[in-house]
Amino acid sequence: MAERFKEADERIFKDVYICRKCNARNKVHDPEDAKCRKCGYDGLRPKNKEFASE
Ligand SMILES: [Zn+2]
Repeated sequence: MAERFKEADERIFKDVYICRKCNARNKVHDPEDAKCRKCGYDGLRPKNKEFASE
């Protein structure tokens, strides 16, 4: 039952980054040029570390 949602979650979280300052969730397509939509801070970390390619 939950299997189908797992794939959807991975797709969603891939573009989601968390602000290191205020912890707001930001959906970004270009992490290199991303800023927090709430506070404007540019220090974002991937929501799901498994998708980080560093
Ligand atoms: Zn922020």
